[in-house]
Amino acid sequence: MTINSSDPAFINISENIKRIRNDINEAAVKSGRSESDVRLMAVTKTVSVDYINYAILNCGIDLIGENKVQEFLSKKDYLELDGVEKHLIGHLQTNKVKKIVPEVDMIQSVDSLNLAKVVSAEALKRGICADILLEVNIGDEESKTGFDKVAFLESVSELSELPSISVKGLMTIPPICEDEKELEKYFSQMSEYYNELKNGNYPNFDFNILSMGMSGDYKEAIINGSNLVRVGSAIFGARIYK
Ligand SMILES: *Cc1c(COP(=O)(O)O)cnc(C)c1O
Repeated sequence: MTINSSDPAFINISENIKRIRNDINEAAVKSGRSESDVRLMAVTKTVSVDYINYAILNCGIDLIGENKVQEFLSKKDYLELDGVEKHLIGHLQTNKVKKIVPEVDMIQSVDSLNLAKVVSAEALKRGICADILLEVNIGDEESKTGFDKVAFLESVSELSELPSISVKGLMTIPPICEDEKELEKYFSQMSEYYNELKNGNYPNFDFNILSMGMSGDYKEAIINGSNLVRVGSAIFGARIYK
C-alpha cells in the first residue's frame, strides 16, 4: 500500500476519529450506556482507498459504509478488509441487488417492501441469509428515500415473513432541523418504532441495530437511543464529488 504518512490528511483522520470516539463515549454514558454499546461506522463514499485503509489499519475502524454499488465494487479489491464489516447505506436499485448481496455484510437501506422481496429472493437463490435494516423516512420528506411511515407499518407483517433475510433493525436520515427539539422528536420516534418492533413477535426480525446519527448530529442520535452512527465528513473532511 502506498501511504505517504507525511500527508497531513492522515493526521487529521486519526485526530478526528479520536475526537469522535470521545464524543460517542460521552453521549453513550449520558444515555446510560457505555462506549462499547455504540458502533462507529466510517462512511467512505468519495473517499480514496488510501485514506480508508489508513482509518482501518491505524485508527481501528472495523465498519465501513458505502452508498453506491458501483463505487464499492470498484474500490473493494484495494481495501484492507480483513475483519472489517461492509454495509451498503445508499439507495439500492432492484437491478443491482444481485451484484451487492454477496459482497456486503448488511444492506441498511432497504426502503420498500418490493426491494426487501428482491433481496430475499436473491439470498434464497444463493442459499444464504441476508442481514438488512429497514430505512424509514421519518420526516416524510419527498426528496428522501426510506419507507413512508404509513407504508412501513403496513408492511411490517409481510416483511417479517420473507425467507432468507434477517431484519436487524432500523435506519434513518432525519430532515435538516431548525432546532434540537425537532431533531430529538424524530430520533425518539425512531427509538419508539425500534423498541416496539424489537419486543414484538416477528419471525425474521432479530433487532439489535438502530442506525441513526451522522457527522452533524451523532451525539443527539446516541442520546436518543442510536447504537450505530454513520460518520463521513467529520472523519475524512468535506466530500469532493467528481
Ligand atoms: C453520506 C452519508 C452519511 C455520512 O454523512 P456525513 O454527514 O458526511 O457524516 C451517513 N449516512 C448516509 C446514508 C449517507 O449517505
